[in-house]
Amino acid sequence: MNKQDISGIKQLFLTQKNIVIVPHKNPDGDAMGSTLGLYHYLKKYHHNAKVISPNDYPAFLKWIPGDNTVLKYDSDTEMCHKLIADADIIFTLDFNALHRTGGMESNLEQSKAIKILIDHHQEPHNYASYIFSDVSKSSTCEMVYDFITMLEDHSLIDSDIATCLYLGIMTDTGSFRFPSTTSTTHRIIADLIEKGANNTFIHNQVYDTNSHERLQLLGCALSNLKVIPELKTAYISLSQDELNKYHFKKGDTEGFVNYGLSLENIVFAAIFIENKQEGIIKISFRSKGSFSVNDFSRAYFNGGGHINAAGGISELSLNETIKKFISILPNYSNALNDE
Ligand code: 5GP
Ligand code: MN
Repeated sequence: MNKQDISGIKQLFLTQKNIVIVPHKNPDGDAMGSTLGLYHYLKKYHHNAKVISPNDYPAFLKWIPGDNTVLKYDSDTEMCHKLIADADIIFTLDFNALHRTGGMESNLEQSKAIKILIDHHQEPHNYASYIFSDVSKSSTCEMVYDFITMLEDHSLIDSDIATCLYLGIMTDTGSFRFPSTTSTTHRIIADLIEKGANNTFIHNQVYDTNSHERLQLLGCALSNLKVIPELKTAYISLSQDELNKYHFKKGDTEGFVNYGLSLENIVFAAIFIENKQEGIIKISFRSKGSFSVNDFSRAYFNGGGHINAAGGISELSLNETIKKFISILPNYSNALNDE
């Protein structure tokens, strides 16, 4: 985003606008933190802003300032259609292509509103008038902080905005440990704490609100963990029956894939989760070093993401999906063993 873009956006903000802010489907901490952080900022200008999420998000995010204002496209569809039709500006946050919004895709495509993309995923599509993409950034929340700062509104960051942005930086950096965490990230985090983000509270809300059943599901996932040492790969599977047994709720499997990656000498981890209702297997991939799970997922599992964290889907059965995964791996033997 250059100076011309910034002055263009400043110009847009001079008069009250109808603004819709959209995260990706199945939004995570960064998606909800960045959209609600931006929402609170736009409210300072008295814009008519609304966050429309494609669908619901996990309970461990249901405390974020502004949570009660969020509309869900899949349940509030009519209201969302109206807001999208009336929008002057649509912000799309934390995703790189409109199909990542699921059922909202065609509605967003058809909208004549000015679109502004803010995102850190690989390969952004060219659908927006303003594209603010930086794949080196830890999180979209860090980019929203930069965006507000570039608009010379750093002084408007209050404790609500700080809380939202802290949340997404924390979740997308694995609590400040992934390689995307820079000294700048830490400076921003320090500033957000000074502006009122309560770091311990935020961490507790996200990580210390486990149900007993979720921990039992984790136990099941860990007992299903398989390791292929010669390919430095580990993977977990969870069938629909297993999910049902532990009364799976949205968000319960968040972070499970990282256990595979925590094994010594493992550089590639995957989790395969059966979803009978949608007739798909949802996959998460994680890696260490230069092995790109974004490329891997794009090539074989209709997905994408970042170099070290990506997702994808499969329409094969759970067993067939895992068989496919195992059959592809030897092609990457050199890449995996070079790590
Ligand atoms: P997760 O494995 O935590 O669901 O997602 C890891 C990263 O990949 C996130 O940045 C997420 O937005 C992205 N991602 C997850 N699923 C998909 C997918 O099906 N397609 C694409 N393009 N990206 C995905
Ligand atoms: Mn993100």
